[in-house]
Amino acid sequence: MDDQLLAIARAAKGFMPDDEGLALHEAALAASLVVGGPMLEIGTYCGKSGVYLGAAARAASTVLFTVDHHRGSEENQSGWEHHDLEVVDPRTNRMDTLPFFRSTIEAADLEDAVVAIVGYSLPVARAWATPVSFLFIDGGHALDVAMADYEHWAKNVKAGGTLAIHDVFEHEADGGQAPFKVWQRAVADGYEPIAAVGSLRTLRR
Ligand code: SAH
Ligand code: MG
Repeated sequence: MDDQLLAIARAAKGFMPDDEGLALHEAALAASLVVGGPMLEIGTYCGKSGVYLGAAARAASTVLFTVDHHRGSEENQSGWEHHDLEVVDPRTNRMDTLPFFRSTIEAADLEDAVVAIVGYSLPVARAWATPVSFLFIDGGHALDVAMADYEHWAKNVKAGGTLAIHDVFEHEADGGQAPFKVWQRAVADGYEPIAAVGSLRTLRR
C-alpha cells in the first residue's frame, strides 16, 4: 500500500490495528489475483478496513462491496465499551457512521473501488448471487449475528478464495467468543486455516 493510503487508513476511526489491516490487504489482494472476482466486507463502520481492502481491490482491478446499516453493533451503542459520541447523529440520537465512511473513502480517493451497501446484512445476503474472491466477516459480534453472517455469506466465496474473520480470540479473557466459534465452524466445514495476525484469521475455501 502506498504511504498516503496507509496514513488515511491509520487515521480513520475504527477497529483495525495496522498490522492486521496490512495482513487483510495482502490476503485480499492475493485471493483476488488467484481466483478473481470482487471482495466483500460485512461491517463497514467508518471505512478503516475499507481503505486497506479498497487499496487491494484497486490493485487487483476489482471492487470491494461493503455492507453495513451504519447504526452500530450492540457493543458500539451508548454505555458500551466501543461507543464514540462523535458518530451519534444529534438529530435522531442514533448512530450514523455513513458520513464518516464517505469522508474516509473520499480522502483515500477510493470511490471507484469501494461500493457501500447500506442495509442489514441478512436481507442483502438473501438477494446476493455474485461469487467473491474474498469475504471479510466483521459485522455484529453477538453469536447469533456472527454465525448468521457466516451461514448466509460464506457460500459466495469461490473455491480457492479466502474467508477472513476478525476479532477471533481463543481465550475468553482476551475477548468475546463468537468470532472464534465462527472460525471453528468454518474449520469443521472444511475451510483450511491459512494465517493468523492478531485477531485476524484467514481460511481458504
Ligand atoms: N471493519 C470496521 C469495523 C466494523 S464494526 C473497521 O475497520 O473499523 C461492526 C459494524 O457492523 C458496525 O458498523 C455495525 O453497524 C455493523 N453491523 C452490525 N450488525 C450488522 C447487521 N446485522 N447488518 C449490517 N451491519 C451490521
Ligand atoms: Mg473487528
